[in-house]
Amino acid sequence: MNPIIKVENLKAVYLVREGTIKAADGISFEVPENSVTAIVGESASGKSTIIEAMTKTLPPNGRILSGKVLYNGKDILTLSNEELRKIKWKEIALVPQAAQQSLNPTMKIIDHFKDTVEAHRVNWSHNELIKKASEKLKMVRLNPEVVLYAYPLQLSGGMKQRVLIALALLMEPKVLILDEPTSALDVLTQAHIIQLLKELKKMLNITLIFVTHDIAVAAELADNVAVIYGGNLIEYNSTFQIFKNPLHPYTNGLINSIMAVNADMSKVKPIPGDPPSLLNPPSGCRFHPRCEHAMEICKKEKPQLIETENGAQVACYLYKEGGR
Ligand code: ATP
Ligand code: SF4
Ligand code: MG
Repeated sequence: MNPIIKVENLKAVYLVREGTIKAADGISFEVPENSVTAIVGESASGKSTIIEAMTKTLPPNGRILSGKVLYNGKDILTLSNEELRKIKWKEIALVPQAAQQSLNPTMKIIDHFKDTVEAHRVNWSHNELIKKASEKLKMVRLNPEVVLYAYPLQLSGGMKQRVLIALALLMEPKVLILDEPTSALDVLTQAHIIQLLKELKKMLNITLIFVTHDIAVAAELADNVAVIYGGNLIEYNSTFQIFKNPLHPYTNGLINSIMAVNADMSKVKPIPGDPPSLLNPPSGCRFHPRCEHAMEICKKEKPQLIETENGAQVACYLYKEGGR
């Protein structure tokens, strides 16, 4: 399938008093059109950095050092602000992490829709706006008559998340990126949001990319999974293969930890050690201090992402190009 987005060697850092935080260190992956891709990793592994670098929405102390983000072959990172404004929301829409807090408590939901339209210099009449906003709210299973005239505080967390998705869909983007769409919600509401995203995927001709720290959510929703560890993409494969045959020792540990819910607890092995510092990351493979298979070379040289003969992509010296 054609990639709609191709990320090539994306490097992004944050400048802090102590130095640079190497939060996305040479990330490369392809997103097939009309697929669902999950970016999975533990907290502070660099998931949001990847998304924010891809959409040029890093905070002021964030810097993109190198790389390309090709959207239909065009590098987003080289676009002018004006060109980027045209693509954003109409082609690629983003629901950032914790976006619920960005809803203005003094503005009704209808005004949030109005602001979005004005920001994108779209010439819709008031009636057109109501019609389009209502259509999108219905898509996310909300009642527009109630929700459009409500203030954010009158809505539950799950409803606010739906409103944010409806806002992101307003300009009918081809790619929808969601950063942690289910975190900070109770388990039942999480399940409803996952179900909704599945429905949207079926209903619309859309490509979804979402970030989650919960590999179980990825299992439910994604076609492909990109596993991030310490600012590196360490494994990329179809969801089925990632679960059936995880290759990287870290992915293996992640899968083991969720199997715990249903399986024999005695077989569950938590990954020993702590996540790496991204200010002074470990040399070579960033996972080496925690890896039971670590070899001399792992401490010295960073393993590159290679494709195995089964089409999996993995960055680990236990595997070699075209084979195990
Ligand atoms: P979470 O699951 O908690 O959202 P994440 O995987 O999205 O985590 P990022 O937010 O991308 O992780 O952060 C990657 C690293 O960069 C972390 O070490 C984080 O502390 C650091 N970081 C993020 N934003 C900034 C910033 N504005 N300034 C300095 N460091 C930052
Ligand atoms: Fe372990 Fe070495 Fe593979 Fe890193 S490269 S995961 S340290 S075996
Ligand atoms: Mg994040």
